[in-house]
Amino acid sequence: MSEKPAHIVIIGAGHAGGTAAALLRQYDFQGPITLIGEEPIPPYQRPPLSKAWLKGEADADSLALKPLEFYAENGVDFRPNVRVEAINRADKTVSLSDGSTLAYDMAILATGARPIRLSIPGADLAGVLELRTASDAEALKSALGPGKTVAIVGGGYIGLEAAASARSLGADAIILEREGRILARVACETLSTFFQTYHEARGVKFQLNAAATGFSGKDGKVTGVTLADGRSLACDLVLVGVGVVPNEELAKAADLDCARGVVVNLEARTSDPSIFAIGDVALRPMPIYDRMFRMESVPNALEQAKQVACAITGRPAPAGETPWQWSDQYDLKLQIAGYPFDADQILVRGDPAGNKFAIFHLKGDQLQSVEAINAPPEFMMGRQLIGNRKPVNASKLADTSISMKEVAA
Ligand code: FAD
Ligand code: NAP
Repeated sequence: MSEKPAHIVIIGAGHAGGTAAALLRQYDFQGPITLIGEEPIPPYQRPPLSKAWLKGEADADSLALKPLEFYAENGVDFRPNVRVEAINRADKTVSLSDGSTLAYDMAILATGARPIRLSIPGADLAGVLELRTASDAEALKSALGPGKTVAIVGGGYIGLEAAASARSLGADAIILEREGRILARVACETLSTFFQTYHEARGVKFQLNAAATGFSGKDGKVTGVTLADGRSLACDLVLVGVGVVPNEELAKAADLDCARGVVVNLEARTSDPSIFAIGDVALRPMPIYDRMFRMESVPNALEQAKQVACAITGRPAPAGETPWQWSDQYDLKLQIAGYPFDADQILVRGDPAGNKFAIFHLKGDQLQSVEAINAPPEFMMGRQLIGNRKPVNASKLADTSISMKEVAA
């Protein structure tokens, strides 16, 4: 008698969960797959929500990872508007918000992350918005427009991309950043200064070392932000983009190893061999840096979806990838590869004034990370050098008369 194929339950129908379902079928997995998501629509891309879609340059259909029919046609039981409330490891079931339970042979946690909410007075006023989901983006887009002023709390990716999009929609934008520079957590000082200057030239205003301590309002709707130094700023809406926290509560309650992220190995397997975790929620090994890390990016979601699909279908584990991410603001394309862990030298190739340059972070003669603005060869060859750990000649790297191909040879 042939063995019954395993039932895979994917918890979270976002970029990682949706990709895992598609890859399992692509890799000929024959068993039943259930994809459970609390949002009302099939898995979609979030990056355009702060960029092309927000500016009105992309329509809603173009956001979907796959058309809705894909799931039924490929035997994926996609269940929108359903939340997984608990993972019951003892009997290998999940409890759902519709009151039912569902048995699994293997489960994939792909619950992503959620925006941090500020616990300051007025945070619940209408017009204080966040940006994670398509419905958040709808609310933001409908509140923006000519003559409106958006106060953006947080000078990270969300803040900067939303500010650029707001400007192109004719709105005024003011960014309030708690630190002394924007992008403090993800980029070096040269890049922070470059982006601030670029935004300022396009009308975005910045308040640095500015902690929001409260929001004021009228008739239940936000009208201003109060800062720690006592100043207040008037606005029509607020966007809070102060980072995210992983949705790891289900894993914690099920007693899986968690450490601000669900701990997994290179197969994306958790401390329970029947349960995997992928995407923003997972704390994963990064062999090239010899450390564990939680990454919040699409390339990471795709890489881990591949790891889990390979592990489940018995394929060899995919080769490790050098982490990377990107951001589009105005006509700038920022591409970042690697992380500047323990870097002891920073060098700039090209001229920031020409809006085409790259910043390299070295640890000894090894490249740890590259931040490239409108500089694809620097990004691509840099990414390759980070991955292959070849020693790098710093003076050649800084010399734009020597091609990146030659530097990487
Ligand atoms: P998500 O895509 O967040 O999906 C998780 C899903 O799980 C959600 O739909 C959630 O509702 C659902 N869920 C959670 N808990 C449960 C539960 N208990 N039951 C059922 N469902 C549940 N990355 C880049 O690399 N480049 C970019 O340019 C970029 N731009 C971005 C722009 C915006 C506006 C945002 C918000 C993010 C951006 N990112 C970008 C980050 C990227 O989108 C995320 O890293 C990626 O979506 C992570 O995928 P994920 O599947 O882990 O999480
Ligand atoms: P983020 O990149 O972590 O940036 C948050 C910023 O807000 C940081 O600079 C942070 O400074 C600052 N901050 C924190 N608390 C603050 C406060 N009380 N007042 C003022 N500033 C404060 O997070 P995000 O921009 O909110 O993005 C959310 C998620 O979406 C992340 O996962 C991000 O990677 C993802 N995303 C990615 C892209 C992309 O890759 N292009 C685009 C959009 C969104 P500190 O460092 O001091 O905390």
